[in-house]
Amino acid sequence: MAVTKKELDEFHKRLLKEQKEIVKQLADLGGVPDMGSDTEGETFDEEADEAEEYQKNLGLRQALKERLLDVKNALDKLFKNEYGRCEKCGMEIEAEVLKVDPESRYCKHCKK
Ligand SMILES: [Zn+2]
Repeated sequence: MAVTKKELDEFHKRLLKEQKEIVKQLADLGGVPDMGSDTEGETFDEEADEAEEYQKNLGLRQALKERLLDVKNALDKLFKNEYGRCEKCGMEIEAEVLKVDPESRYCKHCKK
């Protein structure tokens, strides 16, 4: 089932919103662990906790960055009028897949 123009518009909006949210989340996570003045007087244990937190954020940041890439890729395809095409088999991605996951690169079958 092909995606309608109305649905396309909706996916476009959702992707733009998602892109904004991911960028914001990435900014919130910060680039470097906070080793500034507020770590002063903390014990080693707390600093270790912070390092652990940083490691955790690193994984999260990585996941967010990958999602951001997918979103940008989908927006790019929208722009080039190639949106909704599976990157593996070239078939149309089912509307139901895109509704759940607008940045999906693959159709239902290739996702597995
Ligand atoms: Zn496919």
